[in-house]
Formats: sequence, C-alpha cells, structure tokens
Amino acid sequence: MERDTLIFDLIDKELDRQEHGLELIASENFVSRQVMEAAGSVLTNKYAEGLPGKRYYGGCEVVDTIENIAIERAKKLFGAAWVNVQPHSGAQANAAVMLGVLQAGDKILGFDLAHGGHLTHGSPVNFSGKLYQPLFYGVKKEDGLIDYAKLEEVALAERPKLIICGASAYSREWDYAFIRSVADKIGALVLADISHPAGFIAKGLLADPLPHCHIVTTTTHKTLRGPRGGMIMMGRDFENPFGLKTPKGETRMMSSVLDMAVFPGTQGGPLEHIIAAKAIAFGEALSDEYLVYIKQVQANAQAMAKAFVAKGYGIISGGTDNHLMLIDLRNKNITGKAAENALEKADITVNKNMVPFDDKSPFVTSGIRVGTAAVTSRGLKEKEMEQIVDLIDQVLTNADDEAHLAEIKKQVTSLVAGFPLYK
Ligand SMILES: *Cc1c(COP(=O)(O)O)cnc(C)c1O
Repeated sequence: MERDTLIFDLIDKELDRQEHGLELIASENFVSRQVMEAAGSVLTNKYAEGLPGKRYYGGCEVVDTIENIAIERAKKLFGAAWVNVQPHSGAQANAAVMLGVLQAGDKILGFDLAHGGHLTHGSPVNFSGKLYQPLFYGVKKEDGLIDYAKLEEVALAERPKLIICGASAYSREWDYAFIRSVADKIGALVLADISHPAGFIAKGLLADPLPHCHIVTTTTHKTLRGPRGGMIMMGRDFENPFGLKTPKGETRMMSSVLDMAVFPGTQGGPLEHIIAAKAIAFGEALSDEYLVYIKQVQANAQAMAKAFVAKGYGIISGGTDNHLMLIDLRNKNITGKAAENALEKADITVNKNMVPFDDKSPFVTSGIRVGTAAVTSRGLKEKEMEQIVDLIDQVLTNADDEAHLAEIKKQVTSLVAGFPLYK
C-alpha cells in the first residue's frame, strides 16, 4: 500500500499544534517516546481475549508476559492486591465495575457532574444514569468543598448500592474513610474513581483510597502520563457482598466478578499494544524522576492558583491540592465558552466548565478548568506559571481584540519554544 500522506500530514499538523501551543487541559498530558512506540507496535495485531494464562486464542506467550508485567507494576505503584489493566478507557472501567456489582435499576450515589463530577457517575445521558437510578451529592455553596453531610443524608435515606467518589473538576482532597463509614451503615460498596489525581496518589502526595474504598478505577493518561486507557484495582480481594454466585453455587470473589465484567461483560479483545504502553508508563511512574515531576505538577498548580487569585479571579474552593483548578469567571464578565474561544486564538488550550450552582448551560458555562500536568511534562516551572496567568488574563480582558490576541499568540510561541516537546 502507498503511504497515506493525507493522514500523516494531518498527524504532523497535530504535532505542530501540540509543539507550539500551551496545553492547559487538565485531563491531558504528553507521554514519553517509548510509551508511544509501544502503542504503535505490532502488538496491535494480536487477539488475546481472556487473562494471562487463560486465553481464548493461541500465540499469547509474549502478550501474557507483557500483561503480567503491567499488572505487577501497577500493583507495586499503587500498593494494590488485585488489578485488571484491560479497560480501554476510564469510562469502560466504570462500566465494568457497575455491570459487575449492580443490577439494572439499582441506586447509585455520585458526585454531581454540574459540581465537578463525571458523566459515568450517573449522568442521565450516560449508561450509568440510564441503566441505574442515579442520586447525587455536590459541593457546599459557601466554600466549594464536598458536602459530606449531604452525602450521608442522601445515602441513609435512599440506601444506594454503590457510592462513587472522584471527580473531573475538583481540586481538593477526598475523605475516603468517612465515605466508607457511611457506606458501611447501609451495606453499600464504595468506588473511588481517581482518573485525575492518580499520579499524586501513586506517589503518596494525596490520600490513598485503596485502604478505604472497595474498588478503585483510574484512567492511565491523565496525571499518570501513560497511554489513553483505564484500569481497575482493589486493595484486597473480598467476597461479593451482594452474593453473586458461580454456576456451581459458590460465592464469587470480587476479583473474579470484576475480571468477568471487563471480559466478556463489556469488552472483547484487550488492546495489548496499549497494555504494553501502560506497563512502560507504570515503570516510569515508579521512578524517582516521576516523583520529581509530579511534585512539580503540584507546585506549578499552586503557583498558578496563587497568581489567578492575585489578579482577582475566583477559584472554586479558593485553591488546589492537585494539578487542576476550576476558575469562576462570573466576576470577569466573560463566559466559559467565550474564554475558551479567545484563548484558543492565542494558542492556549483550556476547556470551558460548569462551576457549582452555574446559571449557564453546559454549552456556555461560567468557568474554565485548567491543569498543569501537560505543561509540567514540557519542563515549565513556577516562574512560567505566573507568565501564563498573565497571558490568560490579557486574553480574557481583551477577548474581542483580534490584534491583541495575535500579539499574545506570539508571546505563547516564544514561551514554549524554550521547552521543546519531542526534540
Ligand atoms: C477522564 C475521566 C473518566 C473517563 O475517562 P475516559 O478514558 O475519557 O473514558 C472517568 N472518570 C473520571 C473522574 C474522569 O476524570
């Protein structure tokens, strides 16, 4: 076959966009060359339905070894007793958990999407809100922190089977022990979805959910800086509390319930090329070099939050413990949508985001979400965070001035030129 220059020219164009822009989308990162190499390897050719040593296809000796290494490294990284590295994405990991432990129509209690939660935690447009009966808790209006009293009140009144904690736009620590204590009062399971802060949790910079939550899911491509994918973990194996039985009438252990919920429950063949890339990313995350990186991500986020506050921006909860922050633009007289568009013209990529108690629709929103994981991978530090906030502030206060935006774009180009991405 002839080389498909149409697509490869577009990939070059995307590389150029990534190289020349300021990437502040909190869920994105830049993987290492070796992670990309594995993701683009011959392993994409292999079918391997099942688990290492228990496959439905021949020729799996090599991929078995690779998948076992991925599992062992993930266990070591998070101190987990059991891991499944096959979920194709974070959404797939959550789908498998819910399929495994719930029956259709069961109640689930999650963090409200409009307050920073995730679609897969019960949104009516997602499988989680269609197949199960969703209930929500949110943040408190006065301080932007999780309303744990409300969580407990709803849990005791409604008795959901699953309580989900974790978020896509919440910048603070979670009280996993408290959530577990509520769940124990009603016999519910707790799922912690650590898709965003996984890298901090792995390195001990944020509280560890594994000792408290029955099940933990994560993506592998956000702060963890691996390939696009998902994973499910448990701190220990235990009997399914809802009494799912094997065909022989034995109680199924949770590991087997979850393994089967991934395959054959929700997926077919695992992506062994991506699992190899996950193994490499876990190996990288086990290093001291990654510890230095993730500490810098946190320091950068704190420097950035401080700079925004100094310029009069409202940050939900007033600051950040992790890599991201949600900025309320209501006092700046610009919508999230207009801010995202103006910033894009200056090569600064963020996403518009609802803020808690937002009066605007999800398509317009009153806020933006920014994160420091990707820019830190390029080598930017606290000093550059202040420069970035200054550039963002200039864009947002001159959003309709095309000439000014073009000028900021030049400054963005020269700022990132000092931090080449893929040399
Ligand atoms: C990103 C994210 C997901 C979904 O991950 P995908 O890989 O995009 O499916 C799930 N839960 C949370 C909390 C997330 O932030």
